[in-house]
Amino acid sequence: MSRSSTIAIDGPVAAGKSAVGTLLAARLGYRFIDTGVMYRAITWAALKDGLDPEDEASVTALAERSGIEVTEGDASGVSRIIVNGHDVTGVLRTKEVEQGVSLVSRFTGVRSAMVARQRALAGEGMLIMAGRDIGTVVLPDADLKIFLTASAEERARRRHQEMREAGQTVELEQVLAELIQRDKLDTERANSPLRPADGAFVLNTESIGIEQVVERIIGLAGDD
Ligand code: C5P
Repeated sequence: MSRSSTIAIDGPVAAGKSAVGTLLAARLGYRFIDTGVMYRAITWAALKDGLDPEDEASVTALAERSGIEVTEGDASGVSRIIVNGHDVTGVLRTKEVEQGVSLVSRFTGVRSAMVARQRALAGEGMLIMAGRDIGTVVLPDADLKIFLTASAEERARRRHQEMREAGQTVELEQVLAELIQRDKLDTERANSPLRPADGAFVLNTESIGIEQVVERIIGLAGDD
């Protein structure tokens, strides 16, 4: 059986896209690209320049002229993100970026600029790309489309733990409220709203767990 060469993984905040994508990439020998970091990098650059994340014209112009480089992941799947010469890898999950990113990613011009870069990065296949609109917009011809889900409570719990491990002190209730707000913006926006692509397999990382989801995807990808 031939193996799927391009795998799109979409889903809401903390559904497990990066964890699944990294494990899958290691198993299949594919590249893994997390597109969320690109929207985060533009949000970081906008905040650094003192732009209002609601200012569509300025944020779009910034996205169009910004250089974004995403390096290959290292052994643990960590890639470095460089925007306009700044290595922003360690600052993409701050509260400020987290609060601004779904505002910035609503703008059509920002999305067009990012989608063009993502398609260029996708290149020749042997690739797993994760985001919100990969199966629907960025790579509609992907060989395999996956949509990951988990309850908001479980996703908030995961995100809260990650934040605590990163040394941030924040209440679980606040993480849950912000996650629900970000999901709402991502799902209800006019351009490329978050939804499963036609033909996507919907897998729940809460009920069957990350490892099992990876096994299921390998089965679906037709790896011998
Ligand atoms: O996946 P992550 O949580 O890092 O994504 C951050 C934000 O970037 C999302 O909440 C969403 O607003 C935006 N995003 C998007 N399209 C993608 C990836 C991320 O709009 N393909």
